[in-house]
Amino acid sequence: MTRITELKVGKVKVTALKDGEHSLPAEVLLNLSKVDRGTIESDEKNSLSLSNINAYLVQSGEKNLLIDAGCRDLFGPTCGYLCEALEEAGLKPKDITDVFLTHLHPDHMAGVIDTGGTSVFKNAILKVMEVEYDFWRAGNFEAVEVNGADWASLAKSVIASYSDRLEILQRDSEVISGVSVISIPGHTPGHAGFRVDDGEQSLIHLGDIIHVPNLQLFDVNISTVFDIDSEIALKSRKEMLDMASTDKILCTSGHMLSPKFGHIEKVGSNYAVV
Ligand SMILES: [Zn+2]
Repeated sequence: MTRITELKVGKVKVTALKDGEHSLPAEVLLNLSKVDRGTIESDEKNSLSLSNINAYLVQSGEKNLLIDAGCRDLFGPTCGYLCEALEEAGLKPKDITDVFLTHLHPDHMAGVIDTGGTSVFKNAILKVMEVEYDFWRAGNFEAVEVNGADWASLAKSVIASYSDRLEILQRDSEVISGVSVISIPGHTPGHAGFRVDDGEQSLIHLGDIIHVPNLQLFDVNISTVFDIDSEIALKSRKEMLDMASTDKILCTSGHMLSPKFGHIEKVGSNYAVV
């Protein structure tokens, strides 16, 4: 089984790295139909709530940019294979020059440190959006159930272990030359996707607007408890899908299943990946 899917955007090489897969339990999904809820509750390995955890390798010139880093050991035995995927792509952790985290949720950031809190990517600069950095550092998370103290403390450990090589990005920053940040608030305050442009070709990463593609592409109102502001997240989901389908840009995202890259097409009031 391969964990990687490679693609060229102009001269830039983009590789989707599959950290793992799991099905989300019904209790973390909101606005489900009764039928779908029944299906998900009766089969914990159902494909309706199947989600992948993807990271990305963007190789341009001398740069080996890693975007997100998987969930390490936090989500059980079906996930946490980022380094295996990286090796399949021909790289070791020491080869990574830059790491960009789309947001500071465990399934995107845990893999940048080991279980002892030491950085995994010894030669990389860690890049984080300013709004995201401020949110997780400043808040009082003790009384928060989801997005609570455990996640905030992991975010703080990640930031601390890269404190000597941390770069804070603004909304319209470039991560590296040719790779720019797309601000997509809602899921978290500083949540971002990215786009790669080279010559006539482009690729857009839609961030975490979707966690369970088999449900949310067919009903954009289905969401997860992980959205910090569900109203803004819904608005962002609609806007991004609308933009992707109207502009016919090649897309990918943090929880996309197979194929890892595709075009979003509007089908009635729903969407499909083609
Ligand atoms: Zn995620």
